[in-house]
Amino acid sequence: MQLGGKNVVVVGTKRSGLAAAKLLRERGACVRAMEERPLTPEERAPFDALGVPVVSQEPANLAGDGKTPDLIVLSPAVPYDLPLLADVRARQIPTIGEVELSSYFLKGPVAGITGSNGKTTTTALTGHLLKQCGIECQVGGNIGTAVASLVKSSSENQWNVLELSSFQLESISHFRAEIASCLNITPDHLDRHHTFENYISAKTRLFEMQQADDCAVLNYADAGCRGFASKTKAQVFWFSASQPVPSGVSLQHSDLCWNGVPFMSRSQIKLRGIHNLENVMAASAIAYLAGANLEMLGPAVESFPGVEHRIEFVRTLDGVEYYNDSKATNVDAALKAIDAFPRNLWIILGGKDKGSDYAPLRSPLHARARAALLIGAEPPYLYAAAPLIRKALDGAVPLIDCGTLDRAIQYARSHAEPGDTVLLAPACASFDQFQDYEQRGRSFKHLVAELS
Ligand code: ADP
Repeated sequence: MQLGGKNVVVVGTKRSGLAAAKLLRERGACVRAMEERPLTPEERAPFDALGVPVVSQEPANLAGDGKTPDLIVLSPAVPYDLPLLADVRARQIPTIGEVELSSYFLKGPVAGITGSNGKTTTTALTGHLLKQCGIECQVGGNIGTAVASLVKSSSENQWNVLELSSFQLESISHFRAEIASCLNITPDHLDRHHTFENYISAKTRLFEMQQADDCAVLNYADAGCRGFASKTKAQVFWFSASQPVPSGVSLQHSDLCWNGVPFMSRSQIKLRGIHNLENVMAASAIAYLAGANLEMLGPAVESFPGVEHRIEFVRTLDGVEYYNDSKATNVDAALKAIDAFPRNLWIILGGKDKGSDYAPLRSPLHARARAALLIGAEPPYLYAAAPLIRKALDGAVPLIDCGTLDRAIQYARSHAEPGDTVLLAPACASFDQFQDYEQRGRSFKHLVAELS
C-alpha cells in the first residue's frame, strides 16, 4: 500500500486511532484525525507532535482544505456503518480498520485469536507459552498494544499474537492470520452489530481470509465455531473439554491430549473453571502449531499467572473469599464465572445493559447463590440493566438492591459466612457508573482491600 502524499482521515483518537495516525505519518501520508467529543490537552498533544490536526466528526470535515480523502481509517470503536461515512462509501473511497491498515506493513506470521469470551486470557497465555518455549513473538491487538504500534518491532521470524474483536474483523480484506482461532460465539455487542448473524459474519472474515497452508483452531463443542470450518481453506484443528475431536486437543481422563497423545496434566492448570481449561487447550494448540514443543507446554501453562479482572482472587477475609471478574461484561462470561464456584455465592450483577437475556442465569444462581446483589444505574437511564435482571431472576434467587458497588460489598461483608464467596461478575457493561470494566474491577479490589 502506497501512502506517500495520500490524504487520509483517521476516525477515532484513542489508542488505535493514534497508532494508526502515527503509522500513516511514518509512511508519508497527510493525515487528519476526527473525533466526536472534544479532546483534553493531554489527548491532543500526541497528535500535535505528529502534525496531525484533530477535527470534529462532521461531514464538512471529511474533505480537509477541499481535498477529497483517498482513504479513511477507522478505530475499532467506530461503527463501520457510521452514517457520516455513507457518502464517502458511495464515492468509492476505501474505508478500512486499523488492523487492516497495519496488515500491509506488519512482518512475520500472525496468530489471530477471536471469540465472544476468553480472547484476552488466551492471547496472553499463547504469548506466554511461545516465550516459555523459546519461540519469538510479540502480543497485541485488542489486548492492549494496537497492531499499528507493533509494525515497527515486527520481523519475519517473529510471531504476532493478536487478540481480535469482531469490530476489528468486520471489514478486513487483506489481513490474514496463518493461525486463526475462535474460542466460542455467543450473542454480544448486538448494540453495534444489530443482529447475531452480522456478529458471526464479522468473525467469519478471519477464517475466510485464510489460505490452504494456514491453520484454524476451533472449539468443537461450539456450534458457531463449527460453522467456520466450512468457511475456511485452512487446515482445521479442534479443541474440546467435553468430547473427542477429529484432530487437535481433547481431554482424556485428566490429561490434555494432542491427537490422543497426552502432553499435559489437567492439574497443571491453575486457572479456575472449564472455560479456562478450554482457553488452555486453544492456546496450547496455537503454540504447538506455531512450533512449540508439546512437552514444554505443561510447565509453561503452570507458570502463567492469569490476567487481571478475570476471576482474579482478591483476598480472604474471615473465611470469605473475594473474586474480581469485572471483565464478565456479558451473560455468558458471568455464567462461566458462576460455574467455576460450586456453591455459597454472593454475586454482584448489573450495570449498563447491552440488549442481553438474563434468564440463563436463573438456574445456576438458584443452585449456587445465596443472593444476587444488584448494582448500576436505574431508569430513567436508558440502558439500566437492574430492572431487567430483577424481572429475569425473580423467584430464582434472593435479589438485593444495592445500587452501588460499595453498598453491595458492605452487604456481602455483613451477611456472608465462612466458606462463602463474593464474586463480582456483573454480566453487564460498566459505563453507567464507571469509565470501563478495569476501573470497576480496580474499585472492587480497592473496596475489598479496605474491609476490616
Ligand atoms: P475477552 O477478551 O474475550 O473479553 P477475557 O479473557 O478478557 O475475554 O475474559 C472475559 C470474561 O469471560 C471473563 O469474565 C472471563 O472469566 C470469561 N471467560 C474467559 N474465557 C472464557 C471462555 N473460554 N468462555 C467463556 N467465558 C470466558
